[in-house]
This record gives sequence, C-alpha cells and structure tokens, in this order.
Amino acid sequence: MNLVILGGGESGVGAAILGKKLGYEVFLSDKGKLLESYRASLLEQGVEFEEGQHTPERIFKADLIIKSPGIPDTLPMIRELRQQGIEVISEIEFAGRHSAARHVCITGSNGKTTTTLLTHHILTRAGVDAGLAGNVGKSLAAQVAGGEHELYVIELSSFQLDGMFDFRADVAVITNITPDHLDRYDHRFENYINSKFRILNNMRPEDLFIYGMDSEAVCKTMQMVQVVPESVGFTWDEHSGMGAGMEGDVIVVRLGKKEFRINKQEVSIKGRHNIYNAMAAILACMRLGLPNEAIAEGLRTFPQVEHRLETVAVRNGVTYINDSKATNVDSAWYALDSMTAPVVWIAGGTDKGNDYSVLFDLVRQKVKVLVCMGIDNRKLIENFGSVCEVVDTHSLADAMVAARRYAITGDVVLLSPCCASFDLFKNYENRGELFKAAVLDISES
Ligand code: ADP
Repeated sequence: MNLVILGGGESGVGAAILGKKLGYEVFLSDKGKLLESYRASLLEQGVEFEEGQHTPERIFKADLIIKSPGIPDTLPMIRELRQQGIEVISEIEFAGRHSAARHVCITGSNGKTTTTLLTHHILTRAGVDAGLAGNVGKSLAAQVAGGEHELYVIELSSFQLDGMFDFRADVAVITNITPDHLDRYDHRFENYINSKFRILNNMRPEDLFIYGMDSEAVCKTMQMVQVVPESVGFTWDEHSGMGAGMEGDVIVVRLGKKEFRINKQEVSIKGRHNIYNAMAAILACMRLGLPNEAIAEGLRTFPQVEHRLETVAVRNGVTYINDSKATNVDSAWYALDSMTAPVVWIAGGTDKGNDYSVLFDLVRQKVKVLVCMGIDNRKLIENFGSVCEVVDTHSLADAMVAARRYAITGDVVLLSPCCASFDLFKNYENRGELFKAAVLDISES
C-alpha cells in the first residue's frame, strides 16, 4: 500500500512514522523546506521524501493520502486526487484508525489551546496517563506509533476536522464559534460552523458533548443538527441543570450525580473567557472520573499560557500583558473585557475582514489610547478615531515608545492585536516574543 503524505510538519512527520510502522510504502512531499529536526527524523525512519516541490507521478500513485491541515481542500491537486477516487484524510483521522485510546477533543474559534492544555494539566497532575496532541503537543500519529498513552487530549482546528471521517471523540468540546478563517470556507460562516460540528460525527449516546451556551452560533446550530451524545453546556449566567454556570463568584458544575464548586479567584487563569475554558475542562475531567479535589488542584496550579493574556512584567508601575495570540476580534473582546485598569491597547496587523464595531463599547469604557501597530493602520484609525485617542505606528519599537508615553502608574499596556501578525512579524509567537523582550528591556526610572 502506498501512503503519500502532503506536508512535512509535526503532523506529516508523525503520520510518516506511524505509516512506516504499519508497513506502508511511505512517501512525504513538502512544497516548502523541512525543518532540520523533521528531516533528520525522516532519514532515521527511512522515509522517502521530497522538498520544494510536489511530484505528481509519485503523489498520484498513492492508495491513501494524508494532507496537512494547512493545505486547502480546494487546491486543484487535492480535487484531482479525490476525483480519481484516492482517499484524502488528515493525520488525526489516520491515527484514530489505529488507536484504541480514548479521545477528548477540543475545538472552537477561541480558547482551544487554553482548554486543551488546562484539561491535560488537570489530568496529568492527578496522575492520569494522558497525552497531548493535535495543534498543541506532539503529533497524535507519532504517539500512537509509540503506543504511548491510553487517553489523549486533542486540540482540533476546523481544517483538521475537515479531513476527519470515521474518527470518534469520547468527549468533545466546542468552546464557541465566531467568524474566522472564512477565506477557506467560501466566505460563508455556515460552512465554517459545519466544519466545527464535524467533531460530533460518529459519537455515541454514551459519549459527552460539552458546548459554550453563550455562543449564538453554537446554540442555533444545535437546534438544527442531530446531537447523539449527551450534551451539557457552560454559561456565564446562573445555570440550574446539568452543565456549568455561575453563582456570584462561584463556578458551579453539575454532571450526573456529581457537583463541583470553586470560587473563580481560585482558578489560576483570569478573565471571563478563561472561566469558560475552565468550565469546559472541569466538565471533561468530571466525565473522566476525576475527584473534585484533583480538579480543584489542577485549576489552581495551571501555569500561564504563553502569548495568551500573559503578564510579562510590571515596569514603572505599568503592567505589560502579552496577548499576541488574540488574532481575531472576539479574542480581543475577551481580553479587553477582563481588564480592570485603564488600558493602553496595542493592536493591528493583517486585517482578516474584521468588523470592529462590536468592540466600541468596551473600548470606550476601558481604553485610554489605541496604539496602532501595522503596516497599514487605516482601517483601525477609521474605526476607532472617534471612539478613543489613536496613535499611528508602524513598528514594535515605535509602538513601545508611544505606549510608554501614555501609560502611567496603575495602567496596563495590553498587546491584543485583533489581527494576524504577518505584516511585521513571522507569526504570532514571534510578535509576542519580541514584545516581551522589549518590555523586559524597559528600565525602572
Ligand atoms: P485558540 O487555540 O482557539 O486560538 P487560545 O486558547 O490560544 O485559543 O486563545 C487565543 C486567544 O483567544 C487568547 O489570546 C485570548 O485572548 C482569547 N480567548 C481564549 N479563550 C477564549 C474564549 N473561551 N473565548 C473567547 N476568547 C478566548
């Protein structure tokens, strides 16, 4: 059997390792350059590969194709492969076909990584042998090949879900759905929503679906699709039934005969969005049978997640927060919502067709000044010019100078860009790292 893998990143190389172990004839093809460590591991495993091109003669010989989530389904080559009856799936689907482990799968527009890491942290701290996979952690296929764990917590993007067909989650989470990545979905929000809901495919009545009840798109879609597993929601409101809600400052979660309560101050990560993420993680862990004390312990000890509302340092009485991962409007909304001091807000970058109007009220309440940081800031200036003071900068260095000029003791400087990073930076991690370095460079005067 010929297995061809398109894309040689973490998932592709993992799939190659599993394919080899299963006795496939494996060929990996990447149009770009492979990272040195991946090249080394392919050589070590004896996997044939090519870089800088896709050779059709090799690729069309495949019996099965595993495609990186980064390659769109609409690519002519992918269409052609499917037309020829060659099956094209994702690495997670491939791994799932060869694994008997339980899967806790987490998707949504925002909060995936945080919820995945938090769930994994609570479980492992409680002594459960859980692996971390999907968009974070190591490739699921590579871990399955190594026979590593009985349970995996898996972060799934919509692109990964698009390549999943027979895969089944034992516990599935949709944190929320707001418009994102619409360029890959014919600019139709419903296509993107349907893609997220693929997480429910193949689930059984005895499985559990956990969903964000405050997300309009999620709730509306649930009215229209058949939901086979037991479903429980989480909300910022009071909630009397099964699922999670708030009673004042206390998070109250009920599942089956169990009830779990914790004051939101005890949860290490702050802000309403993180309480949602905590609720989803609590429900998943309750379902997996963890005792309440173990869950509480995990929630108290979870470390900050880099680039997600990460407090970098306090300099001259000003707190600097790195939320570089906030690449869309909704995530920046939650970042601003969770601020309790006056905010000098650094935003901007590559606009993804953003509608900024949903931020106006919050910005009026919380933001002293918006420091725009991008090559082209016109849209931000047009939108926010009448909402708050706006400064136009085109580099991180200038943005930092402006931020320092406006921020006084007690203020927060928040990098929560609302936009992708590709105009000035390599990616959001690079943007966050450079911001942190610039903050740590500020001397106390
Ligand atoms: P994802 O993996 O889905 O991109 P992350 O956990 O990495 O989500 O968080 C990305 C950004 O989204 C964070 O910087 C934070 O500001 C915001 N965020 C996190 N959780 C949520 C949530 N549940 N709802 C809305 N925004 C969120």
